[in-house]
Amino acid sequence: MSRDLIKIIPPVALFIVAAIFVLFSEPPPSPEPEPAGGPSDLNVILLTVDSIRPDHLGCYGYDKPTSPNIDAMAEGGWLFENAFSQSAWTIPGIMSILTSTQPPVHGVEMRGDVLDPAMPTIFDSFREAGYATPNINFLLTIPEFAGLRVGPAEEKYYSEADDDELLRWIDDNHESKFFAWFHHRGVHLPYKAGDEAMSTFASELPPEERRSSGIKAVLSSAAVVPVGTAEFEEGDRAILEGLYDAEVKDLDAFVGRLRAKLSEHGLLKKTLIVFTADHGEELLDHGFVGHASTMKAATLYDEVIRIPLIFSLPGRLPEGLDVDEQVQQIDVMPTILDIAGIPLPPGLQGRRLVPEPSDEGANICRPGLGGHEGLGRREDERHVRLYTLCRDRLDGL
Ligand SMILES: [Zn+2]
Repeated sequence: MSRDLIKIIPPVALFIVAAIFVLFSEPPPSPEPEPAGGPSDLNVILLTVDSIRPDHLGCYGYDKPTSPNIDAMAEGGWLFENAFSQSAWTIPGIMSILTSTQPPVHGVEMRGDVLDPAMPTIFDSFREAGYATPNINFLLTIPEFAGLRVGPAEEKYYSEADDDELLRWIDDNHESKFFAWFHHRGVHLPYKAGDEAMSTFASELPPEERRSSGIKAVLSSAAVVPVGTAEFEEGDRAILEGLYDAEVKDLDAFVGRLRAKLSEHGLLKKTLIVFTADHGEELLDHGFVGHASTMKAATLYDEVIRIPLIFSLPGRLPEGLDVDEQVQQIDVMPTILDIAGIPLPPGLQGRRLVPEPSDEGANICRPGLGGHEGLGRREDERHVRLYTLCRDRLDGL
């Protein structure tokens, strides 16, 4: 796969370049790039995947065939090599994506915190632009998400048996203009993939009587493995990665079904798919398994806060572009709105990302990776423990 390393042109730089053109040429070009789609016909799917770490995807350089459909999707747009979560667990990060604000601003940092109903969300922007915003997402049944005002739950699409709620909704609503947020739970603990993926990727799983208590824990029905409750043995990391890869393969199959569904309804080239995560996942990289709310003792190592971020819109976005610059979850909302040609509401803390081809990679370090504005990321000082004060209030997501 050949990709160009590109940089993001800061809006100020775009303005300066445009101002020079105004002085010396007619007609003056716009200082802003044209929206790739525009509000007239563009649909948007925001796919957040729980606990997916980018280094287990082929398009991020993984050497095992876990993600052919995700890789193909990434070819149709932009891939951000260095995207990071605002938090080490689900709810604060998701809220940052959906409001483009840091956790101390949106205020949903611990269990029981509820989004201020006055906080502008991405759903408000799309609804005001005439889009359907379906409520088909299991996360929306959690009280902390009440302030998002997505719309009434459409329970007929829910299922415990599969993750295809969105596909069923598209079958019934493909003639609507829609912004659909869907949170996929596929790679979250427990690591129990389908039989085919397990046989392909988890062949090192030993018989039950020879499994460590740690491996038994990640396969159990419990969604948490608190630090200190299970022991891992030498060789368990390869087993864990195999189990995780099998789940990634099942997630990839979902992405394949989603793209096939869009194609079936003639929507593939008029639907922006944004693929990202709430946070990453530790797989014994530093002695633990999971993330803050499942380990109940969080770290901010890269494996927990680094996330994939892909914008795919074949034929409408510049295709096959890798962005090296560091970006954050709060940048997702303004970028989506910009591509859709919808005005940005005031108060967003993220920036719209406008990749442009370049011969050199840019790398602008930005703060705010720990869920708190003042907490920066340092390459040589990344082991920052957070949430120990609220350990008792974290579980399961
Ligand atoms: Zn999560």
